Amino acid sequence: MAKSIFDKQMKDPKFKAIYEEISAQMDIDEKKAKLRYKSKKCCICGKPVFSIKSIYCRTCSHFSARMSDERFPPKTREQLWNYVRKYGYVCYYTGQELDVFNESSAYFLEFDHVVPGNPDKIVITSAWFNEMKGDLTFKELKRSIVQLYNYWFKGIKIKKMKFRYWFRLHPPA
Ligand SMILES: [Zn+2]
Repeated sequence: MAKSIFDKQMKDPKFKAIYEEISAQMDIDEKKAKLRYKSKKCCICGKPVFSIKSIYCRTCSHFSARMSDERFPPKTREQLWNYVRKYGYVCYYTGQELDVFNESSAYFLEFDHVVPGNPDKIVITSAWFNEMKGDLTFKELKRSIVQLYNYWFKGIKIKKMKFRYWFRLHPPA
């Protein structure tokens, strides 16, 4: 069987020694790199990072991309990150855990303007809750829910409310 150049070179003790030293060093470097990667944690939630180049885990990386898609200003992004750091991916209104990835889930994470149309305070909520809240302020929704409860369980008639941001046909200019 024909021997390769490498095999021939390996017969030289000097070459063999250098080769073995280099490959041992490469093994150590690779192990070190793996350890560094494994110990690199997401800067938001502390879970292992998504990739060696990322500062985020898979979930936070996805959330960051979604905030970019929404073109939120830095101040809003920071407010949302602070919220996530403190509470995790949990609905602002209901405390329910949100689904960050599955768009078809009722609990899919959505962004909501606390005051409709006002970009100053944006929170995370579920698709379901966002749909239910619609163009109402949280206060109006709470009042509506109390009234519904009273109607369904106590037979108390519901008074009609004027919803402040209900502009279905004539949105403000
Ligand atoms: Zn994370």
